[in-house]
Amino acid sequence: MASRVVDILLPVALDQAYSYRVPDGMALAPGDLVSVPLGARTETGVVWAENPSPNPRLDNRLKYVDERLDLPPLAPELRQFVDWVSDYALAARGMVLRMCLRMGEHLGPARERLGVRLAGPAPARMTAARQRVLALLADGLARPKRDAAEEAGVSVGVVDGLVDEGTLETLVLPPEPLALPVDPDHAAPDFTPAQQAAADALRATVAQGGYSVSLIDGVTGSGKTQVYFEAVAETVRRGRQVLILMPEIALTSQVLDRFAERFGVRPAEWHSQLTPRKRARTWAAVAAGTAAAGREVSVIVGARSALFLPYADLGLIIVDEEHDPAYKQEDGVHYHARDMAVVRGHIAKIPVLLASATPSVETEVNARRSRYRRLHLPERFGGQHMPVIEPIDLRREGPPPGRFVAPRLAQAVHIALERGEQALLFLNRRGYAPLTLCRKCGYRLACPNCDAWLVDHRFNRRLVCHHCGYSVPPPQACPHCAALASFTACGPGVERLEEEAASLFPGTRILVLSSDLVTSVERLRSELAEIEQGSVDIVIGTQLVAKGHHFPKLNLVGVVDADLGLSNGDPRAAERTFQLLHQVIGRAGREAGRGLGYLQTHQPEHPVMRALVAGDREAFYGTEIDLREASHYPPFGRLAALVVSGDDKHAAQAHARRVAQAAPHADAVRILGPAEAPLALIRGRYRFRLLVKSPRNFDLSAYLRQWMAVAPKPKGKIRLEVDVDPQSFL
Ligand code: ADP
Ligand code: ZN
Repeated sequence: MASRVVDILLPVALDQAYSYRVPDGMALAPGDLVSVPLGARTETGVVWAENPSPNPRLDNRLKYVDERLDLPPLAPELRQFVDWVSDYALAARGMVLRMCLRMGEHLGPARERLGVRLAGPAPARMTAARQRVLALLADGLARPKRDAAEEAGVSVGVVDGLVDEGTLETLVLPPEPLALPVDPDHAAPDFTPAQQAAADALRATVAQGGYSVSLIDGVTGSGKTQVYFEAVAETVRRGRQVLILMPEIALTSQVLDRFAERFGVRPAEWHSQLTPRKRARTWAAVAAGTAAAGREVSVIVGARSALFLPYADLGLIIVDEEHDPAYKQEDGVHYHARDMAVVRGHIAKIPVLLASATPSVETEVNARRSRYRRLHLPERFGGQHMPVIEPIDLRREGPPPGRFVAPRLAQAVHIALERGEQALLFLNRRGYAPLTLCRKCGYRLACPNCDAWLVDHRFNRRLVCHHCGYSVPPPQACPHCAALASFTACGPGVERLEEEAASLFPGTRILVLSSDLVTSVERLRSELAEIEQGSVDIVIGTQLVAKGHHFPKLNLVGVVDADLGLSNGDPRAAERTFQLLHQVIGRAGREAGRGLGYLQTHQPEHPVMRALVAGDREAFYGTEIDLREASHYPPFGRLAALVVSGDDKHAAQAHARRVAQAAPHADAVRILGPAEAPLALIRGRYRFRLLVKSPRNFDLSAYLRQWMAVAPKPKGKIRLEVDVDPQSFL
């Protein structure tokens, strides 16, 4: 009799599940995690389906499943999600599964925690320090040794001494829980009427259950977070799990603190900086448990990858700052976490909440057409006004040559400092200067691997390529004309701005926040806390500072180069610029006093600048939506990008042409290119891009799959990447 065969999906770059034989007596069902032999190694896979009619010729060549792993099975909902994402994004199913199985290879035994408690008579020799330890432990409870020492204000040696004397005993404590139970009723705020209405609506949405999408649309500081916490509370009361997605988890310590104020405990976190052990434990805890047994993890705050965790019973997904470009993953599996959150919500039949002060055009259109429900929070909490925004026309009142802060902005900073307030100078450019050139011959220092200039990073004493990370120490002599010390910096970066600020505002405490200067999440969080506490006068920052922070003493924001993101040929340039500048100026005046924003620009008449200055969000969306509709750009049409790259320019271009020629004919589809990508060379690879446009209701993924099936396969070092709904057009 032929044995039973199942198809098992493995976390490798393959679409197909492999068939394996099931040993007699092994109980296996779809979703089960198993270990199977794959070549010479063992791989963890997931049973995807029964295979009732395996190819009989293969049957006796099939290998056996090694074992069924003692882990909760992947729910049908998650398996369906994997299939959906892989289909939509044209990613190998195994690679999508891999994102679900990022639990670390080995859990291993938990590290032992040593605790102490009172066990015997008082020591022969009593000291004040020993007295304090005994007083602390008088309740007979066990405490971690370090905690006991710290709380009693003594060294660990004192505690050890008491153990040696038999007064205390040591014992192994159970592992620390990842997260303590969330108390939905710990400290609910008193809501304003508008907040209350939104909170009530969300509670009802959760109570009703089922799939729906709501947009919490409110200006920065209007209480969106507080309001969606009510939906979290309601979901937790019902014993289900909540995922809160954040675009930049490292920056979200304030949200974690606010969560703790509201719910009494911090939530579990999921992001790339978790230690392997914590990752493994979090993965297992998210997957395990029933509501009745009390979940170890009921709320996860995570980066986009948290969307692929195997929740035991996910009841709600929240996407905070839903417009943020960081939600798009641009390598490996190309996916947009906001869009896929909506998909997962649909498959799991649960509510999805999107929150933003500046929704993406896609979401705004969905809300205008009532596909998403809009919950409006029109005002800042506490009656704070939105900042007043003034343009500074760089053509008429710009700074002196070699300087980047216009006199009017400098004046405003002086006034803010005199009032004891903080000022933020925003420039979305890391390093000292974006370009270094030789004064003698005009030679510009460029990256050997990319189509890009090297950026001067003085703090680290390197010239760095922002595309591939290539870096060199600044050369002594010009490589072209051999002139010595002839290099000059062109244009500003945040480090150069710091220099200027130090000379304009002597004696002030200046802090530069830029991702390349951030050595660790802890360091960044402590710097943000310093700003919050007011121990910094001037903050100079890149987009790192734009996101969700609440700085009570910050009332002035100066945007040093408001035009920076506008001219890069990206169809989303206007939207991105509007969102980023609105967000960063929204840091001003959140607590006391009136916020003030300055936009240094060469084009004050640009619709983005005009809408920002007038505080007229609707005007911006109106113009932008009309433009998108007229040009059939998303969400009124669909886009995909095909990028062919290779280390040989001609070979890459020739392959791109052959791919284009293989495109199946379809009246609805337009194919542009191949053209050299705007960044034609990255990491030593030449890049050619095809842009595929189709109407909104067209199944672009299916079309692309047909195309890829007949397109010539890339050979040698040529690569072809497909990006459905591209966000970046470089
Ligand atoms: P948003 O997410 O819209 O930027 P937040 O929820 O972060 O707004 O709220 C901004 C600030 O106002 C926070 O410090 C928050 O604690 C406070 N806040 C908002 N609503 C209330 C409320 N009803 N009661 C007390 N504090 C509130
Ligand atoms: Zn480079």
